[in-house]
Amino acid sequence: MIYLDNGATTKPHKEVIQLLSQAMEQSFFNPSSLHGGGLLMEKKLKWAKETFFDLLGQRGDFYFTSGGTESNNLAILGSLGAKKHIITTKAEHPSVLRVVELQKSRGYKVDYVETDKYGTVCPDSLKELLTSQTGIVSIMDTNNELGTTQDINALGNIIKSHSNAIFHVDAVASFGKRQLALSNVDVLTISAHKIHGPQGIGGIFIKPKVRIKPIFFGGSQQKKIRPGTEFTTGALAFVLAAQLAYIRMEKNFPHVQALRNKIAQLPIKNMVVNTPANALPYILNISFLGAKGQVIVNALSAQEIYTSTGAACNERSHNILKTLGHSQEVYEGAIRISFSQYNTMDEIEVVSEALTKVSNLF
Ligand code: PMP
Repeated sequence: MIYLDNGATTKPHKEVIQLLSQAMEQSFFNPSSLHGGGLLMEKKLKWAKETFFDLLGQRGDFYFTSGGTESNNLAILGSLGAKKHIITTKAEHPSVLRVVELQKSRGYKVDYVETDKYGTVCPDSLKELLTSQTGIVSIMDTNNELGTTQDINALGNIIKSHSNAIFHVDAVASFGKRQLALSNVDVLTISAHKIHGPQGIGGIFIKPKVRIKPIFFGGSQQKKIRPGTEFTTGALAFVLAAQLAYIRMEKNFPHVQALRNKIAQLPIKNMVVNTPANALPYILNISFLGAKGQVIVNALSAQEIYTSTGAACNERSHNILKTLGHSQEVYEGAIRISFSQYNTMDEIEVVSEALTKVSNLF
């Protein structure tokens, strides 16, 4: 099997699996328990949060959540208040888009910043939309379907100099894959399963002085901002995956870039690349004009090459290329190939041949 659907989820590192199974065996204690086992887990959880501060190069609050979806919900719902204006983009993940959409019926005004066809935010459009009533701006660092990256620092500068809005960034697609410029970011969403950690654990980082209200209510775990018994072993596995991602970031980047470039530059006449050249190389979106993306994905799957037509969470509904104004031929013929450090050039040679053959059918 050649796995090229790493945007949907990644294969856990062996080290992560080992840590998780060992920790579940030996360190299953509840960090709120007052006995030695509980105190040990409380300490480990604290260390885990400190490690995230070190990796992010920022200090503040860090809460473990069940993943990117929950962190995005918490970031947005938790920052809503008296200021009734929300700004986002149409290229966000549904866990941002749908939450924002729901606020319209609750009296909030929602504006979508203009972008180009890759989803790159137009800074002037952002500037024009910001007012003293803007409560939150949510813009993802890297698009999970196209790989498009934003200049988060510059956008944050604009937000900070034209409003008092909270700046939330969904970095699920890029955390551990590129350095994040966080000096103007107030709230950050990350998730473990896109960096070879387990599914069902993620985090939210919140800068000092930024107030986020809880969306769940229960015990007093995680300062009551995220009550519920922590998935401590998952959190430890997440930290390990994050540490490995940061250690290997510089080495992985050019490796994945070479794999991405090989496919992006294939001499296939009806193939167009929908991903910008300066995108995060882990994600490549291409269209086969005259073909249906799903047919290509199925043909590849029959050869045990796993790709997707887009984000797994969107596969049957929202189409980002359509939203960004691409033609029907482009959005219907699109597939997403998403790489990881474990893919090899030998695999990509096989995939290149398969793509060339499949494209000849149309
Ligand atoms: N944001 C982005 C950009 C994503 O790609 C995803 C996962 N598809 C999420 C949020 C949701 O993360 P999770 O699967 O951990 O809930």
